[in-house]
Amino acid sequence: MSNDAAITVEGVTYAYDGRPAVEDVSLSVEEGEFLGLIGPNGSGKTTLLKLMLGLMSPDSGRIELFGRPVEEFGEGERIGYVSQHSTSRDRTMPITVREVVTMGRYPHTRFGWLREHDREAIDEALERVDIADIADRRIATLSGGQKQRAFIARALASEADLLALDEPTVGVDADSRDRFYDLLDELNEQGITVILIEHDIGVVTEHADRITCINREIYHHGDTSTFVESDALARAYGSTGRLVEHHH
Ligand code: ADP
Repeated sequence: MSNDAAITVEGVTYAYDGRPAVEDVSLSVEEGEFLGLIGPNGSGKTTLLKLMLGLMSPDSGRIELFGRPVEEFGEGERIGYVSQHSTSRDRTMPITVREVVTMGRYPHTRFGWLREHDREAIDEALERVDIADIADRRIATLSGGQKQRAFIARALASEADLLALDEPTVGVDADSRDRFYDLLDELNEQGITVILIEHDIGVVTEHADRITCINREIYHHGDTSTFVESDALARAYGSTGRLVEHHH
């Protein structure tokens, strides 16, 4: 185990009604790295991510978040989690972009009272992801890409050290998607740890330092370059590997 690990996972298993979705998985996510989490549909990626963030408890094994057992980790504001389909869920949400980002700031306030530096942190978060100009629009009226940026800004306002993103660009057009991944690179260069679930393997290998490839069990956990040269993809995806790879 490294001292600088943002997350360590040791021998973790989780089953839904006796059907294992994640089996004996061990891995580490280093502070400041960009980790891509890939695997076929239904291979346990979302389950593993939720386990790593303490949103679900493993049946067996151990998980540490920033050096503490995940079940004792009390600093949720350090984690920015953008779940799957979060862009489609908020269709009727009557709140504005600024209000969403402000919600990210509340853990740093007393009783929700915003002081000057809180307002500055909110403005800065909006600017960093380039949505200051749409701050007063309702979330429900935004494109998928703009919504994703709002959720990232919420995490930045809460001073998150780690961003965990579950297929963040589903339903986002190609241009916005490329710009979104450039933004993730930028945030990562500024020191934020990124964990990305993404089914487009080309995108993952382009942006991630390391790759975790799972299909219930781990098939690869290490450098992107060694992953590309290995047969882990073909083994994890079975005969459908090529189809999935060229899906987009
Ligand atoms: P991925 O994110 O790789 O698509 P998931 O972690 O969502 O995979 O799912 C892994 C396996 O667990 C799949 O077989 C899925 O059908 C099953 N599963 C996921 N969520 C549930 C649930 N709430 N109840 C029962 N089975 C589930």
